[in-house]
Amino acid sequence: MVCLRCDGLMRREVFIDFAGSDGSFEGWRCLVCGEIVDPEIYRHRLMQSSLRDRQAEVFSRKTATKSRDLVRLSA
Ligand SMILES: [Zn+2]
Repeated sequence: MVCLRCDGLMRREVFIDFAGSDGSFEGWRCLVCGEIVDPEIYRHRLMQSSLRDRQAEVFSRKTATKSRDLVRLSA
């Protein structure tokens, strides 16, 4: 697994959650930056990043369409 923050290698570990009712949880720790994520956080971040990618793609398509229109009007 790759860290979404720094693209570093992540290792699966068991963490103790003193504040939670479960007591412990499995997650990943980045060996480069120390980021800790559990499966739920990771799934949420993946959805957010894929949504951002789709929004950027739509925005770039709209921008490209507009620039083509500008070229046609000025020609
Ligand atoms: Zn990292």
